Amino acid sequence: MNFYAVIILGALLLEYGLSLIADILNLRTLNEALPEEFREVFDPEAYRKSQEYTRTRIRFGILTSTVDLLVILIFWFAGGFNWLDVTVRAWGLHPILTGMTYIGSLLLLKAILSLPFNIYSTFVIEQRFGFNKTTPRTFILDLIKGLGLAFILGGPILAAVLALFEYGGGNAWLYCWMASTLFTLFVQFIAPTWIMPLFNKFTPLQPGELRDRIVSYAKSLQFGLQDIFVMDGSKRSSKSNAFFTGFGKHKRIALFDTLIAKHTVDELVAVLAHEIGHYKKKHILQGIVISILHMGVIFFLLSHFLNDRGLFEAFFMQHVSVYAGLIFFGMLYTPIEFIVSILLHIISRKHEFEADRFAVETTRTRGPMIDALKKLSRDNLSHVSPHPLYVFLNYSHPPVLERIRHIQNIPVNGAERTLLEESATIGQPR
Ligand SMILES: [Zn+2]
Repeated sequence: MNFYAVIILGALLLEYGLSLIADILNLRTLNEALPEEFREVFDPEAYRKSQEYTRTRIRFGILTSTVDLLVILIFWFAGGFNWLDVTVRAWGLHPILTGMTYIGSLLLLKAILSLPFNIYSTFVIEQRFGFNKTTPRTFILDLIKGLGLAFILGGPILAAVLALFEYGGGNAWLYCWMASTLFTLFVQFIAPTWIMPLFNKFTPLQPGELRDRIVSYAKSLQFGLQDIFVMDGSKRSSKSNAFFTGFGKHKRIALFDTLIAKHTVDELVAVLAHEIGHYKKKHILQGIVISILHMGVIFFLLSHFLNDRGLFEAFFMQHVSVYAGLIFFGMLYTPIEFIVSILLHIISRKHEFEADRFAVETTRTRGPMIDALKKLSRDNLSHVSPHPLYVFLNYSHPPVLERIRHIQNIPVNGAERTLLEESATIGQPR
């Protein structure tokens, strides 16, 4: 068997096996008793429901990853990659267009295959646990908008990468990296004002106690906050969240309407403080820088494998091409990608602790943040005692219990001070 085929097959199986072990270990943790900290928020019925929800989601995850793996292996070893290549080449399109059609067809196939799973997840699982608010109409519109965006935004950058590797010579990877960096920044820039409003309605938070409290908190940090938005998360799910996107004048804080409905003003300020913490501690910037550096590494490595006949032989290809090389390199990259994703999760969990600390230190109180976290895990039916291996591989946020215990250890000084006095002591923003 071909050397590359062995590596890719091994990586796919290893990743699948490791995830499966983590899933099974995680299922076993569901028999544990409810941790002390959650006694007051989860009644026995709510706890039972959260265990059942976790169990259902894990089993569904195992099913989807098994089907994914089987489909890839069957397509690969039945010679699907070559068959598609020969078919598309026969149309006699421009080389770049041939490449776009080839990659586009594979992505479309993948989307079609995952469609029944998405439908089942939304309209059966989420429905059964009372989360789903998505109407079939919204579901279909989301699908169309998603495909349209992929075409409008993804099309040109894919064309650029294909053209640069086709005609760009030895430095093609560098040009690709620059093009992708510009593209990433562009998308980051337009996401809050142009892309997200395609999917959700953002309305400025109405004047009132909540708005006043948020504005005075932001002022105490000398944090320029143009607008606070309420997002109609209830359009799709009753689950609640908050997030921060963009940078500079385009930065935008959004609270889900479902979050506002279920939390007190103090809790909402704490959640918002956590989000501002991510910004102030430069987590958002770090995330962008890391992904840009990662792209550079990928393009550099990619350029070394694009013309490697062995890689094409591993997929039974008759022709060598840039576009198929992109796909195959993506698969060869699986083990590195797996390790990178674990590293990114480690960084992300560290950032969550830092944002929690920021929220506690700047609001000078722990209670509301802890209450908010407890309520969030109850309302979203979170798994309160996940297995460490599962957390290590999959969690971008630390388990809630760890966050609560971490928050309880953060010293709070001068909790009696008002926010106004605080502005004088905190000084220049970092
Ligand atoms: Zn966070």
